[in-house]
Amino acid sequence: MKKDDIVTLTIDDIGTNGEGIGRTEGITLFIKDALPGDMVRAKIMKMKKTYGYARLMEILKESTMRTTPPCPEHKRCGGCQIQALSYGSQLKFKENKVCNNLKHIGGFENPKVLPTLGMQEPYRYRNKAQFPVGYDKEGNLVAGFFASRTHNIIPVQDCLLGKEGNGRILSLILDTMKSYGVSAYDEKTGKGCVRHILIRYGEKTKEWMVCFVINGKKLPHAESFIEVLKDLPGMTSITVNINEARGNVILGEETYTLYGQGYITDYIGTISFQISPQSFYQVNPVQTEVLYNKALEYANLTGEETVWDLYCGIGTISLFLAQKAKKVYGVEIVPQAIADAKENALRNHISNAEFFVGKAEEVYPAYCAAHGEEARAEVIVVDPPRKGCEESLLAMMCEMAPQRIVYVSCDSATLARDLKYLCSHGYDLVEVQPVDQFGHTVHVECVVALHRVDM
Ligand code: SAH
Repeated sequence: MKKDDIVTLTIDDIGTNGEGIGRTEGITLFIKDALPGDMVRAKIMKMKKTYGYARLMEILKESTMRTTPPCPEHKRCGGCQIQALSYGSQLKFKENKVCNNLKHIGGFENPKVLPTLGMQEPYRYRNKAQFPVGYDKEGNLVAGFFASRTHNIIPVQDCLLGKEGNGRILSLILDTMKSYGVSAYDEKTGKGCVRHILIRYGEKTKEWMVCFVINGKKLPHAESFIEVLKDLPGMTSITVNINEARGNVILGEETYTLYGQGYITDYIGTISFQISPQSFYQVNPVQTEVLYNKALEYANLTGEETVWDLYCGIGTISLFLAQKAKKVYGVEIVPQAIADAKENALRNHISNAEFFVGKAEEVYPAYCAAHGEEARAEVIVVDPPRKGCEESLLAMMCEMAPQRIVYVSCDSATLARDLKYLCSHGYDLVEVQPVDQFGHTVHVECVVALHRVDM
């Protein structure tokens, strides 16, 4: 088998990035946009010894797991890798993905992974959208999404995962940019002004936030942008974030307010949260409640416990747990998020939560060293970004030996790696619950219960 050969095969598996996997003549082929159960004709694009990549030419027989994807751009856009897979099959795929990572990376023989908790209505769930702004080939001003693996902007203003209101906000902004000749940023030259439009929505409060990410200090014609946006129902916060650096990082360090407040608010359960543009906030508010309730269940609090919430963001999990614990300590690296967390404790009259800015792997060990027994906790919750926890942090956690660890993860590969460490240093893996926070994408969120072996 060589490059440009045409092969016919049946797809029998799905890869971690949503690509179809099939086997023919002893060779494993990865084929984008093919699904398990499809019989396809494909053209070999790249061959290695035992595997290769092929391009889908034709589906000869459709998989029963296929569904008609509602978004016309789903193939070009990198966002929804598995929109063509029926939702039930997506949930099963995610459960299997977690299970396989726990087996292959974590070395667990038969991990207890529960079926993924899915949504009733898995569209329009995202409360946050970040639209790049730029020019198309003809030089027209556009905003939308980057096409898969490129920085070409697909001018989609209505993503079906996002809120319906996004499109209206974007077109008002683009029209105003055109009217006043406000430029978009050009990644190649590093010139031009508007880089991204960040929009956030409070699901329960119906508040909107618009943040202009600009290359420069001042947004030209700011008053005109305020004028067209401020009367939209729920418009609560219009801000400017300064990002003059080259590169892919969306937000810069500094944000200032143009109109209204510098934040919006939202509720998870009965707790209200203030959210700044730079702070992390879960993107799927409906499923976040499911996730946090599971974390609360796994923490198994009676009111007597001391709890550490490492990677606490704006204190969402901390405050959720503080209602049932004696004391909660939160640690987070982004100073603005900790400012939000402290404010959130006050606004909810929660006085048994304390927050620290810094790296979890530095702040927590330093606190333990300084406070000894007093730092001991019954429960530690971690919710790290995709790269997982530093081993030094896991080591410190094992040394402090809480009765229970609740691990919230958005990457099951690093989760499996970290669980392997924890389970070879005194903990039992009790149960893993995948929660579908990111429908139609290959991403999966999990919450995991671990118990100290001697408990
Ligand atoms: N638990 C929160 C936030 C989880 S996201 C929630 O559910 O909303 C992960 C968070 O970890 C982000 O807020 C990120 O800023 C923070 N973070 C990243 N690296 C960190 C580190 N080394 N130490 C502490 N926090 C970190």
